[in-house]
Amino acid sequence: MQWSRRQFLGAMGVAGLIGSTGPKAVSRAAPILDGLYRSAVPELYAPIDPAPAHSEAVVVGSGFGAAVTARRLAEAGVRVTVLERGSQWPTDPRRQIFANDFLPDGRAFWRRGGTAPLTGLPTVPTDRFGGIFDVSEHGTIDVWSGAAVGGGSLVFTGVMIAPERRFFDQLFTGLVSYDEMQALHYPLVRSELRLAPMPEDVYQSLPFTHSRVWDHQVRRAGYTPQRIDGIWDWDVVRGEMAGRSRPSAIIGESNLGNSNGAKFDLNRNYLAAARATGRCTIHASHEVTAVTREADGRYSLTVDLLDPSAEVLSTRTVTCDDLFLGAGSMGTSRLLVHARDTGLLPDLNEHVGEGWGTNGDAALVRGMSPEGNGIVQASPSASRISDDSGAPLTLENWFVPGSPVDLTLIGSLGMVMDPTMRAPGRW
Ligand SMILES: Cc1cc2nc3c(=O)[nH]c(=O)nc-3n(C[C@H](O)[C@H](O)[C@H](O)COP(=O)(O)OP(=O)(O)OC[C@H]3O[C@@H](n4cnc5c(N)ncnc54)[C@H](O)[C@@H]3O)c2cc1C
Repeated sequence: MQWSRRQFLGAMGVAGLIGSTGPKAVSRAAPILDGLYRSAVPELYAPIDPAPAHSEAVVVGSGFGAAVTARRLAEAGVRVTVLERGSQWPTDPRRQIFANDFLPDGRAFWRRGGTAPLTGLPTVPTDRFGGIFDVSEHGTIDVWSGAAVGGGSLVFTGVMIAPERRFFDQLFTGLVSYDEMQALHYPLVRSELRLAPMPEDVYQSLPFTHSRVWDHQVRRAGYTPQRIDGIWDWDVVRGEMAGRSRPSAIIGESNLGNSNGAKFDLNRNYLAAARATGRCTIHASHEVTAVTREADGRYSLTVDLLDPSAEVLSTRTVTCDDLFLGAGSMGTSRLLVHARDTGLLPDLNEHVGEGWGTNGDAALVRGMSPEGNGIVQASPSASRISDDSGAPLTLENWFVPGSPVDLTLIGSLGMVMDPTMRAPGRW
């Protein structure tokens, strides 16, 4: 994953500022880049659709948790307002909507400017803009997450694996029923997101050489690779190979978005279904900065309206009867910790903001693979292996994007069940 940021080449990032003349009219990107973004993605510069002053329910964020919540509330008859800090990005089979990995620009990163810390690898500075990938530093942990309508579903790698019962129960200790998840929720999500393993014709194609090499190597090491579910739209991936679409998934684009909709992201399923009820509206460029509870029981939210560069255009207050925070582990924790420490929300206990850590992922890249890697590596993951000989772990076949020559690199994403996560007071 991190090799996508090996942007030794070029430096498009000139962080110049220009003045603001009105909502969504300008960005703080360098003028030349602002012009580029405006012509490449004019949709970003459309007027903001302001949220209603009062809503029955507000959902903050529009990633996985928020999208499911918004849809199910709306289907149950509730009028729902979704507030999302990021932009509403379009997709197009031919246009390049998002930044590319090799030579990124402001469309890559959320409100940064300069370089983004990507696990210690050298990066190219970019201008400050409202890009879709939020990279933020917190002591010894750097956090990567999505910042767009659809949240992480635009930037994630699309591997969708239901956890095994033994790991699930170890974490949730019976608080959430695994039987119910297995019988009801996992199959439902699998069907709604059209999750499927990589089809054989895709697996056998040139851009997936690295997947076959990976499988071959793990077999030689005594493991049996299992095909895993993904959220990829295989027809779009096939279209890329057939020249019907600009190459994206097959050249290792993923972390900074797939302009052609190669990922079946939340805009095309849960959020679309929520909108289709006629009871849910989704408001991009609305960043919630504070939440409080009024004496009458309503929630009151302070909301910044942002321009395409994620700079604040104006601030307003919206209220709701019921509030659902789906702003991801960073966004929701930030709001709750602020609310607790300022006393803006009553009844928040000492566990808010605690027990937070990495998700057990470890990215590995092996060099000197004797079989090579197939030059450019497609981003969808084909398979994984499991190993219980120590701390239980899985290793997934991963891509090393953006390498223009065969660097004989083979990537894996490890996931480990870390026993220290089970210490008292943590989970
Ligand atoms: C590069 C990468 C690859 C990944 N690959 C995989 C994978 O293959 N498989 C897998 O299962 N998981 C993967 N993940 C993890 C997965 O993306 C996350 O677990 C998932 O997106 C979390 O969902 P969420 O609903 O909690 O939050 P998110 O999807 O992060 O959504 C939160 C939303 O809230 C918005 N928001 C935040 N703060 C505010 C605010 N104050 N006001 C308004 N809006 C706000 C954000 O912009 C965002 O849209 C990956 C993550 C990354 C970064």
